[in-house]
Amino acid sequence: MSNKVILVLLDGLNYQVAHDCMGFTMGLIEHNYGSLYKLQCELPSVSRPLYECVLTGLSPVISNVVCNAYNKRSPNTSIFSLCKEHGLTTAASAYYWVSELYNNAPFDNVRDRIVNNNDLNIQHGIFYKWDHYPDEAVYIDAEFLRQQYDPDFLLVHPMNIDDAGHRGGYDSAVYRNAARTNDTYLSTYLKTWIDLGYQVIVTADHGMNLDNSHSGVLACEREIPLFVFGNVFTHCPKVSNLKQTMLCGTICNILGIKNHKKDICAELIYEN
Ligand SMILES: [Zn+2]
Repeated sequence: MSNKVILVLLDGLNYQVAHDCMGFTMGLIEHNYGSLYKLQCELPSVSRPLYECVLTGLSPVISNVVCNAYNKRSPNTSIFSLCKEHGLTTAASAYYWVSELYNNAPFDNVRDRIVNNNDLNIQHGIFYKWDHYPDEAVYIDAEFLRQQYDPDFLLVHPMNIDDAGHRGGYDSAVYRNAARTNDTYLSTYLKTWIDLGYQVIVTADHGMNLDNSHSGVLACEREIPLFVFGNVFTHCPKVSNLKQTMLCGTICNILGIKNHKKDICAELIYEN
């Protein structure tokens, strides 16, 4: 069993849209390669606080990363910092806010865009500043990092679904089509990653509302998908008490990191 984890964080993707539009990914579920669960995001349903939630296991009100304007380093231990502490290799193809939270803040486009530095929490990174930076490039950057550096933990973070949602809103063709396009990009890599033995998680930070935004408690803003692929997962059809704050600790357990003091979802994985 491989302990390596690939986390795909699809920015702004609502559960129902993922379920209805991501035909390849749902095909993998239909053929028992993985499982899909419904997750409620923490509050506020806003990007940077929820990157921090997924990557540190702390809800925004606890982490103190409470809004998108927080352009400082995270004060909390993260999957990245714990990996570094345990001698594991980390990589990310992600929006620049991730670099600000775990590497350097504020983001310097020249210094921080492409990094290879074992002293950083994210040792190998390709970061982008533009919400319309093509998702296709984000996947290519991620696959380059995977093939080049063989990371134990790889974050893949495309932004175009959220960007489309801010233009068209939750119930729009442009938003749904951005999810479909992502599914097509994922189809190039997902099965290969599964066949290579990676434990793959595909989820979102938050959803989208009808007003072309997100931050509140509506189901369309809070309900997000959690796809899991790999033999460390139980694929139990009903997993109770599944929270976004448990992803960090659960991923740490898969990576073999002990004593991380993060919440885990014990029903989601076999004892590792
Ligand atoms: Zn957004």
